[in-house]
Amino acid sequence: MADRVLVTGGAGYIGAHACKALARAGFVPVVFDNLSTGWAEAVKWGPLVKADLLDRAAVDAALAEHRPVAVMHFAALSLVGVSMQDPGLYWRTNVSGALNLVEACVAAGVKNIVFSSTCATYGDQDGVLLTEDAAQKPINAYGGSKLAIEGILRDFGAAHGLAHVIFRYFNVAGADPEGEVGEQHRPETHLIPLMLDAVAGRRPALTVFGTDYATPDGTCVRDYVHVADLAEAHVLGLRRLLQGRGDGVFCLGSGRGFSVREVIEASRAVTNREVPVVIGARRAGDAASLVCASTRAVSVLGWQPQRSDLRQMIGDAWAWAQKPGFAG
Ligand code: UDP
Repeated sequence: MADRVLVTGGAGYIGAHACKALARAGFVPVVFDNLSTGWAEAVKWGPLVKADLLDRAAVDAALAEHRPVAVMHFAALSLVGVSMQDPGLYWRTNVSGALNLVEACVAAGVKNIVFSSTCATYGDQDGVLLTEDAAQKPINAYGGSKLAIEGILRDFGAAHGLAHVIFRYFNVAGADPEGEVGEQHRPETHLIPLMLDAVAGRRPALTVFGTDYATPDGTCVRDYVHVADLAEAHVLGLRRLLQGRGDGVFCLGSGRGFSVREVIEASRAVTNREVPVVIGARRAGDAASLVCASTRAVSVLGWQPQRSDLRQMIGDAWAWAQKPGFAG
């Protein structure tokens, strides 16, 4: 029988793409998701346990029933802006949820966990190319909550032998090249889907959040990485754990930064349509520039990103944006 992997948040954008990659690699992804932001229709490659990580008994029951060889932990609230308005919600959901999960793993004898962390743990670092060893100084509650979970994993690793791979993602973009899943949030807050909605006429315009940052064109610079490439990295991280090759922290990005204006330019080139744009104020919690070097993932995991070219990512997102999407 194929090995099972419990995928928390597997009904969400990144989790669903990871499930597809897991299934292709021969695993059965068991999705654990409360469907607060995810979509039941995105669960296509294994069973769905509809439950909340804050419900410890439900986590215990899922681990007892499915006996996974590992857990991939994606489930979290992930909006920088909301985390600034309601930090309590972010700390409770993300940190208490993760703590329940790792305690349940220890109790059930699950020894491996792949964790979805973020470049938001770095804070604002003056445009330097970030590596795994850069200081982590989050400037928003979302990043703070993810950094706390990294600490929990290190402590549980030392005390209980819970082996872990931590991925710090930069800005995830694009959609499954075969169109089976894609990015759809409610409400949508992310740059590329909002921009493509404006291009498609589903919203009046894209608001650019600030043009007075200390970046070449004044708009924020981010490192965009294709969700399918990210999903492949998770399978490589899982294999590393299952082979007993030890803990690891890996940044996942493309190594190139693009400003909001450059993303808009790329969209024009890909879609052949104008992006209606309004210039707005800065969004609280946004760093000016976040770009990483993923050299460790490439050299240690053998990660080979295939689709993380900006136009390719926007092209895949555009193909998805033209489909009906999940009805929910
Ligand atoms: N952004 C923007 N308008 C929007 C949404 C995002 O200008 O409607 C900017 C945002 O300030 C950031 C970048 O686009 O610099 C990426 O934001 P997103 O929310 O997609 O991801 P984040 O960087 O917060 O993870």
